[in-house]
Amino acid sequence: MLRRWWFMERLRPTVPEQRTPEVSKERQQLVLEEWAAARERLDRLVSARVTAVGDVLRTAELPPGAGLSAPPGSDPRARSDCAWAFDAFQAAGKLLDEAADLPDLAAAAVLADRALERFAAVHARAAGQPVPKAARRCFYNPLHMAAEDTSSPARKQHRQRARRRTGPREAAADRRPACPSCRRAILAGQTPDVLPALIPVKLSRLRTARVLVPYYAVPQQWSLWSVCACGAYGDEWPSLVLRGEHRKRAAAARKR
Ligand SMILES: [Zn+2]
Repeated sequence: MLRRWWFMERLRPTVPEQRTPEVSKERQQLVLEEWAAARERLDRLVSARVTAVGDVLRTAELPPGAGLSAPPGSDPRARSDCAWAFDAFQAAGKLLDEAADLPDLAAAAVLADRALERFAAVHARAAGQPVPKAARRCFYNPLHMAAEDTSSPARKQHRQRARRRTGPREAAADRRPACPSCRRAILAGQTPDVLPALIPVKLSRLRTARVLVPYYAVPQQWSLWSVCACGAYGDEWPSLVLRGEHRKRAAAARKR
């Protein structure tokens, strides 16, 4: 996505004000333009994805016993999974409408995809078929293709064999789920193609600049998405979004 990281050294929200370097007006303008262009691109992509998932969910039949009107006691897991899938899809639409930043849009895509995955799992179980494995998303940018499965037996074996020659880069590449391209970048000592977020940084008592940081570096009080790869891990995110928690945190960042 955004590959110009010259502003990375400036991203020290916690450093004392007097040590924060000057951000020129031109550079600030460039950051904001780059962010707006990325947002527009992402908004188009994610809208199309959420619409496509909506079409599937609307036209697909609910497995017997999974509907919200199913009698109590009829496969509680199917009912709760279906309810979660519909909540996740609704949350995706809400995020799309109310996105303050790029990670909100990424989370919309992740939650819509996860809604579909959960729905497919209910169908597979009802049909007595093997449940498709949920995608393991790239931590560095959850919109990337699926992360390599580092827990597969073949991969574990490979890691065990390689342990003796494992250096800091290999250790860094194994630390988080990474798609093949991000993994290659880390192994080469380069910055992976990280999903950025726009945050305010105080330059002086009167002046605040907005800078791009990796989404996972955003303080949790400003964003729901830094700890869960934009909703990829954990099931609590749809209900938090439906309660408006994403808006509350974005408002806290704006107050800075
Ligand atoms: Zn990646």
